[in-house]
Amino acid sequence: SLKGHLALVTGSTSGIGLGIATSLADAGANLAINGFGPDEEIQKILGSLRAKNVKAEFVSFDVSDAEKVEEGIKKAKEIFGQPVDILVNNAGIQFTSPTEDFPVEKFDQIIKINMSSNFYAIKAVLPDMKAQNWGRIINISSAHGKVASANKIAYVAAKHGVLGMTKVVALETAKTGITCNAICPGWVLTPLVETQIRKRAAENETFEVEKKKLLEEKQPSGDFVKIEDLGAMVVFLCSEAGANIRGSDFSMDGGWTAQ
Ligand code: NAD
Repeated sequence: SLKGHLALVTGSTSGIGLGIATSLADAGANLAINGFGPDEEIQKILGSLRAKNVKAEFVSFDVSDAEKVEEGIKKAKEIFGQPVDILVNNAGIQFTSPTEDFPVEKFDQIIKINMSSNFYAIKAVLPDMKAQNWGRIINISSAHGKVASANKIAYVAAKHGVLGMTKVVALETAKTGITCNAICPGWVLTPLVETQIRKRAAENETFEVEKKKLLEEKQPSGDFVKIEDLGAMVVFLCSEAGANIRGSDFSMDGGWTAQ
């Protein structure tokens, strides 16, 4: 059980992050929720987590702002009266365009939100993790951390970078009770992917047809990866059985990167 631990999941007001937060709460961890969204939605999320008999609070910060990340992590420690000892770097965005038309501001924003944010948060949690000689850092990379797709220059660069960072932190913490690993999901049906399907559907066929085509192009299983399965992997990596998994990346991609 993860009872007594405090998990911070960035970008946990939606999609994969929300699912991971739910799995961690089911395992008994207290939860610091982060991300954007309407107040009532966030209150609903906190309510459903608290119903699992864990503490849950919203810690609002933009992961792309190093100072705000540091402040947010300090604030979480104050609110809960304990430091974050499980960090899941999950917040991320997508933007697609051929490279020659890719706006420079979009590129910089994606690098910050999807990659630099991991560094900011890891830097901020490490001192307390080292002090208690226990910690779990899990970075949500992507199949795009290992292979590329056209029109995703910023996302692919950021997700590859996350895997590099994961290994560095794993080496620096190798003799401690802190581990750092990454998960590389394939297609998961979340708002981030629904937006891409809608964009394709606007230019091509119906949403349902484009959804099927999207899977057929990349994911041999022909099915989306389940959010609960990603949550279960995070809980496993947090368990004592995960104590010597260091600097690894786990593909959960329906066979995408086996090709
Ligand atoms: P989503 O759009 O459903 O959720 C993204 C979350 O991040 C939201 O809670 C949003 O509020 C938050 N967020 C965005 N920008 C933020 C910022 N600047 N500061 C703080 N929070 C911010 O997306 P998702 O599909 O659940 O994606 C979650 C992660 O999983 C991302 O890193 C994504 O790249 C990765 N991923 C997703 C898929 C997929 O198929 N959905 C596949 C591989 C990897």
